[in-house]
Amino acid sequence: TITNLADFEKLAVLGHGNGGTVYKVFHKPTGAIYALKVLRFGEDIERVQQQSLNEMGILRRLDSDCVVMCHGVFENGFADIDGGGDLCFVMEYMEGGSLYDLLQRHHRLSEEAISGIARSVLEGLHYLHSMHIVHRDIKPSNLLINRKGKMKIADFGISRLVAGSDKQQCDSYMGTYAYMSPERIDPERWDGVYSDGFAGDVWSLGVVIMECFTGRFPLINPGEKPDWITLMYAICFEETWEMPETASAELQNFVRRCLVRDWRSRGTVEELLSHPFSTKFQHVAPQNLLCYSSCV
Ligand code: ATP
Ligand code: MG
Repeated sequence: TITNLADFEKLAVLGHGNGGTVYKVFHKPTGAIYALKVLRFGEDIERVQQQSLNEMGILRRLDSDCVVMCHGVFENGFADIDGGGDLCFVMEYMEGGSLYDLLQRHHRLSEEAISGIARSVLEGLHYLHSMHIVHRDIKPSNLLINRKGKMKIADFGISRLVAGSDKQQCDSYMGTYAYMSPERIDPERWDGVYSDGFAGDVWSLGVVIMECFTGRFPLINPGEKPDWITLMYAICFEETWEMPETASAELQNFVRRCLVRDWRSRGTVEELLSHPFSTKFQHVAPQNLLCYSSCV
């Protein structure tokens, strides 16, 4: 049903990210609401064009209620405005916003909510990995919540298009690198054995889960804005990854299994799906995130 970008009317700006803006849009022929992500590449568009064709193929094949659906991709949708050089992704609209927004408002979440988040993300990763997709950019702003309180993973594939683009902004670099695993930061020196990348998504999940419990990014003191070397050193070498003692034994162990520095010994998605922390609140409906979300 989505064939023409001109069928959409912009209603609001939902947020800005690396090299792009996300709008809430109205699809006039059907009356449905979508999120429209516009990435501007300018003259860099040629570099991403071939890549984006591959990504579009991937995005169209995906269909799971654990991942934010992409309903269409358009090239040069805004050619009339500034000469084009953009890619537009029509996405499922997630009314509840992102985990980033949620953490901004609530600072800390209950273990019950965190367990639900862990399970949702693991199910999404299980699906993506089964489709041979490594997400590479698991972080709170890419975990979105819908009207029913269900959390889904967004922006797989898209992060690769943006990385290396000269539109990348310095102030978002913390957001880009902070959740990165040691083997991704330093792939050559990491024992010389290349990871397939799947384990990197598990590391990022561990950082996110720890942040949900403590209310702040684990490695960095409040108010501090570290440089790249400090951040890299902390991720690769510093011993500051223990969960607070106030967390349950299951949660402490879950995070410990995610944040194993050597990716070969790290917990796998399958292992963590049946981890006692993931199953602990399984009887509770996933809607438990609704109480935190802004849309109720
Ligand atoms: P990055 O560019 O590094 O991925 P980001 O995830 O913050 O950073 P965007 O992906 O451009 O940037 O998203 C910006 C914001 O728009 C998000 O934080 C989220 O609040 C909102 N957003 C993105 N996609 C959707 C969607 N499908 N439904 C509702 N809101 C969305
Ligand atoms: Mg994003």
